[in-house]
Amino acid sequence: MTDLSKSLREDLAAKATLSTFKLHTKQVSQDGTTKYLWELNPDVTGQTAQVESVLIPMAIDEEGEPGHYTACLSTQAGCRMKCTFCATGVPKFQRNLTTAEIVSQILFMEQDSGTRFTNVVIMGMGEPMDNYDYTQKAMRILHDPEGFNLGRRRMTVSTSGLIEHMNKFIKDDWPVSLAVSLHSADPEIRSQLMPINRSNPLDQLRKTMKDFTYKRRLPITLEYILLKDVNDSPEDARKLAAYCKDLLCKVNLIRYNPVPTLPYDSPSEERVMAFREDLKNRGLRVFLRERKGVDIAAACGQLGFKNDKST
Ligand code: SAH
Ligand code: SF4
Repeated sequence: MTDLSKSLREDLAAKATLSTFKLHTKQVSQDGTTKYLWELNPDVTGQTAQVESVLIPMAIDEEGEPGHYTACLSTQAGCRMKCTFCATGVPKFQRNLTTAEIVSQILFMEQDSGTRFTNVVIMGMGEPMDNYDYTQKAMRILHDPEGFNLGRRRMTVSTSGLIEHMNKFIKDDWPVSLAVSLHSADPEIRSQLMPINRSNPLDQLRKTMKDFTYKRRLPITLEYILLKDVNDSPEDARKLAAYCKDLLCKVNLIRYNPVPTLPYDSPSEERVMAFREDLKNRGLRVFLRERKGVDIAAACGQLGFKNDKST
């Protein structure tokens, strides 16, 4: 833009950027799920980082075409929470993504795939409450009629349960639905799985979740990964049902997606179904999350783990 003065151009080059990141690799699963690996622009210290996002076709219509698309977005390169079952928490935490980097994941995926997203889940890499301001702003842009015009029921933020941030989130009234990663209603087991449970105990978490449901009149989703011989017994189901008593919630059971190097297994299908039935019989609303993109390590908890089947 030679119509701008040289000094202004130099100033702009030093302070502003017109691109947020570039595509590094794209992988397509047999089920149509597509995983994008982005190379972020270097930060002020010159350090680059990579993050992943996932395009998930959600249903098949009569013609065999996917009905609608969900974007699973990342909010951080790495994660400080270090849950013991999750690939994202394994490498060193790098940095928060900026608002532009969060929103660009949708823009770039729409551009590449020629599709329009109708749903967004913040269930990719990172803990959204640990990148509070940038994630909040991204959600507001996606919600805005002049942005992506996505309603609050079409966007779900999943958190590991950072209570202080969640209280602020309720006050600030983010335009989204909320999912909380519970994974156990037993304090000992939850602390083993999620070190943050020690400073964010279950009873206080429950109180915060109740606040959310009172204020919003929306049920909260509790995510529960089934881990073989860790949290999949009838006693675990009983504890979960007791924890959910009087809480407006639905339970989303997730089959553990294997991560090499992590010491967990998925229970047998029989056990998964038995756990689900047990919860149903105890009066809970239960869903079993469909596994998507597991062949390209694009399923929940697998992001950040490298494999080499790139297209
Ligand atoms: N940090 C947020 C959001 C990203 S993780 C959170 O923890 O909620 C998104 C979901 O994937 C969470 O419910 C998380 O517990 C789940 N997850 C993590 N590792 C997993 C694995 N190996 N198998 C299945 N689900 C996993
Ligand atoms: Fe972070 Fe969520 Fe993975 Fe835990 S499950 S390490 S909070 S991304």
